[in-house]
Amino acid sequence: MRYIADWHIHSKYSRACSRELVLPTIALWCARKGIQIVATGDWTHPEWFAHIKEHLEEVRQGIFRLKNTASLLRPGGTLRPDREVEFMLVQEVSQMYKKGDRARRVHHLIFSPSLETCERVINELNRLGFNLKADGRPILGIDSEELYMRLKELDEKIIVVPAHAWTPWYAMFGSKSGFDSIEECFGSMASYIYAIETGLSSDPAMNRQLSLLDQVVCLSNSDAHSPRNLGREANVFDFESPPTYDEFVRVLREKDTSRFQYTIEFYPQEGKYHFDGCAACGFSCDPEESKRLGNRCAHCKRPLTLGVEHRVRALADRDQPQSEGKIPFRSIVPLAEIIAEVKGVSSTTSKKVETEYVRLTNELADEFTILLDLPLEALRESAGDPLLAEAIARMRRGELSIRPGYDGIYGTVRILRDEESSRAKQPALL
Ligand SMILES: [Zn+2]
Ligand SMILES: [Zn+2]
Repeated sequence: MRYIADWHIHSKYSRACSRELVLPTIALWCARKGIQIVATGDWTHPEWFAHIKEHLEEVRQGIFRLKNTASLLRPGGTLRPDREVEFMLVQEVSQMYKKGDRARRVHHLIFSPSLETCERVINELNRLGFNLKADGRPILGIDSEELYMRLKELDEKIIVVPAHAWTPWYAMFGSKSGFDSIEECFGSMASYIYAIETGLSSDPAMNRQLSLLDQVVCLSNSDAHSPRNLGREANVFDFESPPTYDEFVRVLREKDTSRFQYTIEFYPQEGKYHFDGCAACGFSCDPEESKRLGNRCAHCKRPLTLGVEHRVRALADRDQPQSEGKIPFRSIVPLAEIIAEVKGVSSTTSKKVETEYVRLTNELADEFTILLDLPLEALRESAGDPLLAEAIARMRRGELSIRPGYDGIYGTVRILRDEESSRAKQPALL
């Protein structure tokens, strides 16, 4: 049975996150997206942890579901999830500390097997004097190796996964305050790093250019700050019987390609740190051009924010990605973006787009099924606009163009041609 997992999300208690991010709403959106396993996020936050304990019950080791699934159905509810959404206790922390005379800022995911273990971790972090109330993603002034050692002492089943490993700020390999290898970041604990999260701005092909990453699997998660962004990226597994926490960890540790089937990826160029650039000047370029410019903005001459492509090339030791024994991946464009392009509107959160998104995910299938599997015939019959089925077909074939994102600005995807967009008598997206 297919299980799609998204292990990196946030609650309404994390900075700059939607008020809608509460467990029943998260479950509803996961059902719409086609996610079966989702992180709770933020369990170190006292109010969110109370919300988790109030709403969730354990169904298998380390796997939870809503106690009251009737709350999933809205009044007059149109959504009837045929499979329940399950939760795992995965949380992001932000570590800021000094190592080797440099300021380091990294984000890591902590996977916990039980509520009791979460409680032990929370007590330990409180004892160390960290403020867990200020933010669902707490800031911890502690070295990565030291934190992982302490966590393993509390429960050896805990695992740590570096989050969005390549983004310039707050990442293990980030150009601003990261490290050049897993060993440099985690020291003696490096052998317990089974996976890294590639982040929106890089994909597995880029990561496979580094032999130093042969020891880990690449995970992909949404890092959603609002329900609509759940499942922007995700991990696809196949299990004969419903998986437990231990089984997921085993699959990651053993790189079990019979269970871990593929990851679902954003096109990395669409991520907001793919290219180098200067947001203030609206200037972006590829790493070669940056080199010619001395890594300075062509307009204001200030240092460029060096993107993920730049960092990957700097650390890569292979010309061609090595794909043998690696987890495959499939690239998608979120359904709301495709609908927006077909309708000729620039915002994916506009009423027009939302209405069509809800209609399609109610009447046809969940979003992942529509994007990945649904026969084009079925799409053509019920999609309303035949251009939508055509756009999804092209997306599946990778026939699209993307203006790469840079310095915090998302890239823009274009699937339709000018004359097709104007057919809808709407201004083109770009
Ligand atoms: Zn983060
Ligand atoms: Zn500039």
